[in-house]
Formats: sequence, structure tokens, C-alpha cells
Amino acid sequence: MNPLRPLRALIKDIRPEAEGVKTYTISIESSFVPAPGQFNMLGFPGVGEAPISLSSILYNGCFDHTIKSVGRVTGFLDNLKNGDGIFVRGPYGRGWPVKEAEGMDILLIAGGVGLAPIRPIIQTILSRKKSFGSVSLIYGARDEKNILYTDEFKEWEDRISLYPTVDEVLDKKMWKYNVGLVTELLDKVKIRAERTIAFVCGPEIMMRFVCRGLLMNRISQSKIYVSLERRMKCGIAQCGHCQHNGLFVCKDGPVFSYKEVKGLPDGML
Ligand SMILES: Cc1cc2nc3c(=O)[nH]c(=O)nc-3n(C[C@H](O)[C@H](O)[C@H](O)COP(=O)(O)OP(=O)(O)OC[C@H]3O[C@@H](n4cnc5c(N)ncnc54)[C@H](O)[C@@H]3O)c2cc1C
Repeated sequence: MNPLRPLRALIKDIRPEAEGVKTYTISIESSFVPAPGQFNMLGFPGVGEAPISLSSILYNGCFDHTIKSVGRVTGFLDNLKNGDGIFVRGPYGRGWPVKEAEGMDILLIAGGVGLAPIRPIIQTILSRKKSFGSVSLIYGARDEKNILYTDEFKEWEDRISLYPTVDEVLDKKMWKYNVGLVTELLDKVKIRAERTIAFVCGPEIMMRFVCRGLLMNRISQSKIYVSLERRMKCGIAQCGHCQHNGLFVCKDGPVFSYKEVKGLPDGML
């Protein structure tokens, strides 16, 4: 089948998540087997397409996308309702190295909407916790209104070590977690460097400092994974928009080891 042919999909549910951010539950008629960290091209004829990470594993034939409305396509999606149709191409790209993470301690670090592509890995871990060592999630957002998936925190807290943090608190009485940068929380996690694998997703400036912190904690460059965002049109390494130094973010990534992408000419890592 033509890999560029979009498939019809149906919006089954829409949940407001944070300021300008919604989670869409989507069903698709064709067989669809996404891996944590992969993305879809979502779009509508006449509007355009945008790459969006899967924010859940497949459940009851559905999957989630968590989308921040920032422009043409995402703004269009923001106006859709339950039962509306959209078009999906995917799943594309190389996701998180789940197999490699088995048996290891896992350190998940996310900033803002960067928690979306981390959520399927949390769900995978929770579904077979015994396959992994200790699991910690450090998650930072601008303020508590911008924290995603708060209704899932209770379950996560019961089963993994959760370290939420915000840059500033709007209501001190309601916020029981940390205030400050995600990098400051690295000191709170007991890191056993030789058996730790780290998955990082967020604004690139955040990932830059997080990677530095992880390296200072002696985690190997090949055990630090980041998910990169670049402008892309096709999603299948044809258009070349997202290509850097011979790497296509759409096909070789979006998940790369730090070792693969440190020093990319356009990058901050
Ligand atoms: C692999 C991958 C996964 C992603 N996953 C998610 C996700 O899970 N959730 C999510 O919310 N987002 C995600 N994104 C980001 C998302 O793809 C973009 O926000 C989206 O492309 C915006 O599309 P748009 O048409 O709505 O915005 P656009 O209309 O394209 O505008 C978006 C912003 O970019 C600016 N802009 C427009 N054109 C250009 C240009 N040529 N050069 C520079 N800046 C420009 C605009 O001014 C605006 O500020 C992901 C991106 C990638 C690459």
C-alpha cells in the first residue's frame, strides 16, 4: 500500500488536558500497531498535516494523541468534536528502545507537552513492571495549569517514583510537589549509572541541560535517549525537510541516542 495514503480515522473522545492542550482518543479501521515513541501525520484535506506523537499505547482498538494548539493544523484539530473524522498516516519513525530498557533502571524526564510521547512508555512499563528495574519520572511544566495527565498521577505514584515540578506555583495550597527546574530533581533520584537508561523529551534547551546532568551522573551517552522535533512534510524520509548530517528525524528518529545526535549542526544537544 502507498505509505503516503492517509487513512480515515474517527475522534471518539476529547479531553482538555492543560492550557491549549487536549487529548484526542482516535480509532482507525485498518490494522494499526504503534510502538511507544512513534508518531503519526494527522491532517485534513485543504488544511495540511502535522507530525504528532502517539500519547498512548493501543487500547480497545484506539490510541491517543495529546496536542497543543499552536498553528494551522493543530488549531483546526482544536475545533473538532467527538465523532468528527480526520486523516492519519503512520505510525512512523523509530520509538523508544523498550527491549534495551528491559531489566534496567529507567529514568524518564519530560518537560511540558514532552510528556505525551513518554506516556506510552509509562503504560508499557506499568503493564509489565517486573520486566524493568526501578522507574522514575521527573516531569516539569511552567505551572500547575500546564501539567498533563494529572488524573493518572495517583496510579503512577503508586507504582513508580514520580517527581513533578513547576517553574512557578499559581496556588500554593493546591501544589504538593516541587518548585524548580527538572535538572535540580536529578539529585533526588538514586541513579545507578551502570544500569540506568534515560528517556528524555521536552523543549530542546531543557533536553540540553538534562543530558549534561545525566552525563555528570555518569550515564553513558549511548544510554541516554532523546525525542527530537523538526519540521517535516512527508514523515517517510522522502522530502528531506528534517534531514541533518545524513539523519532523517522522521525515519531514523524521532528517538535518538544522545551519542547519535550530540553536536548536530542545528541542534542544541
Ligand atoms: C516527531 C514529532 C512529534 C510531535 N509530537 C507532538 C505532540 O505529541 N503534540 C504536539 O502538540 N506537538 C507535537 N509535535 C509538534 C507539532 O508537529 C507542531 O506543533 C505542528 O507541526 C504544528 O503544526 P501547525 O500546522 O498547527 O502549526 P504551524 O501553522 O505550522 O505553526 C507552528 C508554529 O511554527 C511557526 N512556523 C510556521 N512555519 C514555520 C517555518 N517554516 N519555520 C519555522 N517556524 C514556523 C508558526 O509561527 C507557529 O508558531 C511533534 C513534532 C514532531 C516532529
